[in-house]
Amino acid sequence: MIPVVMPTYARADLAFERGEGAWLFATDGRRFLDFGSGVAVTALGHCHPRLVEALREQAGKLWHCSNLYRVPGQEKVAATLVEHTFADTVFFCNSGAEALECCIKMARKYHHAGGNPERYRVICADGAFHGRTLATVAAGGQKKHMEGFAPAVEGFDHVPYGNLNALRDAITPETAAILVEPVQGEGGIVPGDPDYLRRLRATADEFGILLMFDEVQTGMGRTGTLFAHQQAGIAPDIMGVAKGLGGGFPVGACLATENAARGMTAGTHGSTFGGNPLAMAAAGTVLDVMLEPGFLERVENVARLLRDRVEAVAARFPHVIEQVRGKGLMLGLKCRIPNTELSARLLANGLLTVGAGDNVVRLLPPLIIGESEVDEAVAILSRTFSEVAR
Ligand SMILES: *Cc1c(COP(=O)(O)O)cnc(C)c1O
Repeated sequence: MIPVVMPTYARADLAFERGEGAWLFATDGRRFLDFGSGVAVTALGHCHPRLVEALREQAGKLWHCSNLYRVPGQEKVAATLVEHTFADTVFFCNSGAEALECCIKMARKYHHAGGNPERYRVICADGAFHGRTLATVAAGGQKKHMEGFAPAVEGFDHVPYGNLNALRDAITPETAAILVEPVQGEGGIVPGDPDYLRRLRATADEFGILLMFDEVQTGMGRTGTLFAHQQAGIAPDIMGVAKGLGGGFPVGACLATENAARGMTAGTHGSTFGGNPLAMAAAGTVLDVMLEPGFLERVENVARLLRDRVEAVAARFPHVIEQVRGKGLMLGLKCRIPNTELSARLLANGLLTVGAGDNVVRLLPPLIIGESEVDEAVAILSRTFSEVAR
């Protein structure tokens, strides 16, 4: 008999009833160090007092009102995002896939508005992940996500990630935009070289096409800067954000320059729930906390500490871990044993991680971790690696 919850996930037999900071407490009484963060979502940890207070206060005033009216929370969050990024304007939605849908629609609309409706194709990277809607699985291009869901949404071309020549060769008079993740997440924590990202910018400008970054996973402080592309010293025209933005409340955003958004006039796009007052209370508070002086510097410092310590322990077990890679608090352990086995063993020892492509185990701790959580995580990694080695 089919379970009442549709069985689309391979779930661990484990449920949580409470979270506090970097810790999760299971219904069976066990406690876990959460280095998965709900897949890079709970950036401020669980039940951050400022977030709890902001949501409690908003919940007593107004949960939802439609986008038929002004939503002051949207105006505040958008203004903050605009102040701290390349963007001039923001569309709010509820998830990463929806943010990417908006990116893709905007790229098509941009060229349509410019009198070039034949420019609708988007060049994406092999190994990409952009979500699970029909358009975003086509953008991701993973066979396993598209199997059985044909016909695929048309208009996506794929080239090897990091290969500029292949990308330039793929540009045709029908190309509208380039879409990449600054660090591929689901694909296995594959950082894009800063020089590659800069060359993508120059190539987009050369051919009059748009550059779009999917920062759903890399954004909101995850790599040590508010957004990962900032480390390459360039900016996209359009960017999708979600995951960490609400700190656990579902909210996504599509950020764009005024030029890129030139086609997005009243009636062209919309969402019932997008940017509702509860979501905006969450996102506004997450941004307030992250933009406080010293927050991102602290993330960079603790990320360096974690990286050094994880590399040191991995180096002692070269037959278990082949490589440690990533940026900031987005680390990947490239495994020599099945990543699912390592992840299960880490869980049994009290450390939650997330698998990724290319046989990688991801470490995505909340950004609020300190030295004691790093110590604890590294101790569990070390114990688990030696169990595997035995
Ligand atoms: C998770 C993710 C998405 C999809 O986000 P959802 O909220 O699950 O729709 C898109 N792009 C990237 C890079 C992601 O990591």
